Amino acid sequence: MPSQESEEQRIMEFAPAGEIIGEAHRVRTVRISGSALLPDGEYVFVDMYCTDPSCDCRKTMVQVLHNGKHVATINYGWESPSFYRRWMGCEADEPDMPQMHGASIDITSPNLVPPQAMLSLFNALLNERWIGMFRKHYKAVKAALARE
Ligand SMILES: [Zn+2]
Repeated sequence: MPSQESEEQRIMEFAPAGEIIGEAHRVRTVRISGSALLPDGEYVFVDMYCTDPSCDCRKTMVQVLHNGKHVATINYGWESPSFYRRWMGCEADEPDMPQMHGASIDITSPNLVPPQAMLSLFNALLNERWIGMFRKHYKAVKAALARE
């Protein structure tokens, strides 16, 4: 594919961990049925990471696929709010600071399922094991990019 010079290339770029670290990558899949808010079916959570080796943003962007279709995009930052404030050089109570700590719906999310319900599902699924996987994938992606 020819590379395109566009505005978007100056924005932080994210790639699925699997594209960079290959088989070491695992995506999380859950089946849902009988939810009042979310359609039944298989939900796959593809964690993506920023591809700038010099950027230490410590977050993942998760694409949620429902039966193979991209229905939502969720940002998740596992570090403390104070980490992101320092990282962005923001003062403690700056109101305009974008939310990086915890989970939030990304502005580019297609929202093909109710976003608040999706966010609740994501938060309900969050556990130490999954967070540990994000951290591990993040490190592996950055290490792989640094070797290139
Ligand atoms: Zn980054």
